[in-house]
Amino acid sequence: MTMTMPSTTIPLPPTPRRAHYDAVIVGARCAGASTALLLARAGLKVLAIDRRPYGSDTLSTHALMRPAVVQLSRWGLLKPLLEAGTPLIETTTFHYGDDAITIPLDGGPNLPGLIAPRRTVLDRVLVDAALKAGAEFLHDAAVGDLFADTQGRARGVEIRSAGRAALRVSADIAIGADGIGSLVAKCCNAEVLRSGSVSAAHVYGYAPVEPGAGYHWYFRDGIAGSLIPTNDGQACIVASMPTRLFDQRFRLGHAPARLEVLEALSPTLAEQASRAPKDVRLHMFRGVPGYVRQAYGPGWALVGDAGFFRDPITAHGISDALRDAEGLARAILDGSEGAFAAWQQERDLVANQILDTTDAVASFDWTLGDVGEIHRRLSAVMKAEVQSLADRQIPSRASAAGRPTAYRVPANQDERQPPAGSSRRGASNLHRNRTGARP
Ligand SMILES: Cc1cc2nc3c(=O)[nH]c(=O)nc-3n(C[C@H](O)[C@H](O)[C@H](O)COP(=O)(O)OP(=O)(O)OC[C@H]3O[C@@H](n4cnc5c(N)ncnc54)[C@H](O)[C@@H]3O)c2cc1C
Repeated sequence: MTMTMPSTTIPLPPTPRRAHYDAVIVGARCAGASTALLLARAGLKVLAIDRRPYGSDTLSTHALMRPAVVQLSRWGLLKPLLEAGTPLIETTTFHYGDDAITIPLDGGPNLPGLIAPRRTVLDRVLVDAALKAGAEFLHDAAVGDLFADTQGRARGVEIRSAGRAALRVSADIAIGADGIGSLVAKCCNAEVLRSGSVSAAHVYGYAPVEPGAGYHWYFRDGIAGSLIPTNDGQACIVASMPTRLFDQRFRLGHAPARLEVLEALSPTLAEQASRAPKDVRLHMFRGVPGYVRQAYGPGWALVGDAGFFRDPITAHGISDALRDAEGLARAILDGSEGAFAAWQQERDLVANQILDTTDAVASFDWTLGDVGEIHRRLSAVMKAEVQSLADRQIPSRASAAGRPTAYRVPANQDERQPPAGSSRRGASNLHRNRTGARP
């Protein structure tokens, strides 16, 4: 008797539906999916590509600050996040040594509380909303290169995914929402406008927490930590320290070294962490100094960590990503060079203040008295940020009406054709034009 094995078919990844888009976005998490959402809601044809799967996790301690929650609320996404079981956080307690100051949140209708959704929840809610608005997503597909026209203007991306030949997709603008190691920033030679000088390491794991818990931020000489209630009845418990201390102390075992830091910060925090199963997985980030990069150039722009990174210690990265996504969407819909310049100027104004205060905390070069003062400065920056967001119109179809046609690619790109196969001609053009081309 012969046995025939059932044939298994591995599904091929989906391909883009068009050869040309108004915007192609590399990276589809909080910066990329938000930009896709806002542009698609304004009626633009958008493709976002991420090498990671839909709904996947990433390094994050989840704490959203006021500006992020206000953005999500303005975009109508606070409700689905709460419906996904994300707890509403109504108090923040700062522990400076043995002193504790609890601050109740009093934020008005757009800010009923703070939230700290797992990235498996937040990034998925953003992607789902963008899909609903008409954006296309390709997950499990990587952008390997950008290509340019003969003037060096970025014209699109080359997509690589397992089981398929590389594909080229053209776009009026290629957006790098591709995080710290941004390929778009590298291909376009985005200038680094400012580099931070300090970095901190963060080691975190999850443990059960009682319903109704607030944010807790702990500080003692040379170390910090936090308790951040997130989905599924869990809190993310973080130990933070200068990178050099991490390199010395964590080489010989992460779990005991983390517990030592948590115990030094607060026995209550250490006890909370010890409620986790013994084999709980720890996540760690050794630290990267902050930077601010040039935000745009001919045919390209950077949003989220690709354009501006600050240490996670002030939990402001997602707020920055959402704010800059809206600023970039507004500039794209306006289409004028002045709008891009105004967006970068506005981003830099906030980014520089956030980087100053974040580096001041992440340096660990403070006394317990100083760190409270730095937090008050950060709080004032966030208050101004929230106010300026509240004063803004959300980009819409009406904002897209005046978008100049001059901004669009020439008509030799036939949208009815499937995407062309790969060729490296344009990419080398982009690379040749790295030196200093601006819009
Ligand atoms: C340890 C840690 C803790 C943090 N905690 C907080 C916090 O509590 N609160 C907060 O607000 N912020 C926090 N942050 C910062 C926050 O996570 C980032 O600011 C935020 O994730 C930036 O979002 P992004 O979309 O710009 O980039 P990312 O989230 O990094 O997403 C970039 C995406 O681009 C994709 N990508 C990259 N290159 C390619 C390519 N060539 N082709 C296709 N896809 C590509 C990646 O797969 C990735 O999914 C933390 C960061 C770290 C490291």
